[in-house]
Amino acid sequence: MTLISDFHVHPDYSIDAAGTIRQFCDRALEIGLRNICFTSHYDSNPRRIEADGYWRYKGQRVRFDDELVGRYIDEIDQAREYYAQYGLGVFRGLEIDYFPGVEGEAQRVRDKYRLDFVVGSVHCLDDIAISDKREAPGYFLKKTLSQMVDDYFSLLRRAAETPAFDCLGHLDYYIRYGHPYYGDDIYEIELERFDEIFAVLKMNGRGIEVNTSPFRFGKRKFHPAKEIIVRAVNSGVSISSVGSDAHKPETLSCGVAEAYELLTALGARPVFPRGL
Ligand SMILES: [Zn+2]
Ligand SMILES: [Zn+2]
Repeated sequence: MTLISDFHVHPDYSIDAAGTIRQFCDRALEIGLRNICFTSHYDSNPRRIEADGYWRYKGQRVRFDDELVGRYIDEIDQAREYYAQYGLGVFRGLEIDYFPGVEGEAQRVRDKYRLDFVVGSVHCLDDIAISDKREAPGYFLKKTLSQMVDDYFSLLRRAAETPAFDCLGHLDYYIRYGHPYYGDDIYEIELERFDEIFAVLKMNGRGIEVNTSPFRFGKRKFHPAKEIIVRAVNSGVSISSVGSDAHKPETLSCGVAEAYELLTALGARPVFPRGL
């Protein structure tokens, strides 16, 4: 079974990732992936520039700018050209952090670099990264579960309305670091909250990804959880893509085959890469 694609991959341009684009592509060939899309973090919130506004280039931590994004894209294009002989598709992407006001910038980079694929993800609430173990307590400790849910879904809704995004990333990511603070109640969030998001996505022709990152921690789970994926499919929302969210080559495509199995069982298939 080689027809699978991993559409959420962080090469070492991201500070929190390791492994070059070539190393990821070599790994992709080794494990029989058919397509790989690189989705480096693009975090442009001006209130978080000191925390997030850096990439790594030639071993140095540098503020990312258009020139550096251009080099990243060039490197993807070189890999696309080189690996075509092995039948591996290599795609240009970014994972753009959603914050109110990012819409114009997201569209600008999408157009400028003719991106094949853009994941839009909510990582921060009140400008605090709830996706970061060290920062997350600063948010979760001061909010009740219902306050957190209101904050999260109001941003998610705006992200769902953002034209530059092809899909929303890891839809229920608040569970990862929120669970220690709210306990199992966090699983009881009314599924209707997701229905509102699905309605917006459907109206705008966008979808959700199936993110398999929990597999690399030994958990057979997805973001979002299986019941939410089922609900999305049943409500006619497209599954844009499947992605491992790998931050190093060894974890590339971890859980991706399992996600494809689930989607096949549900009669759904990823939209990206288009035309396959
Ligand atoms: Zn993310
Ligand atoms: Zn990611």
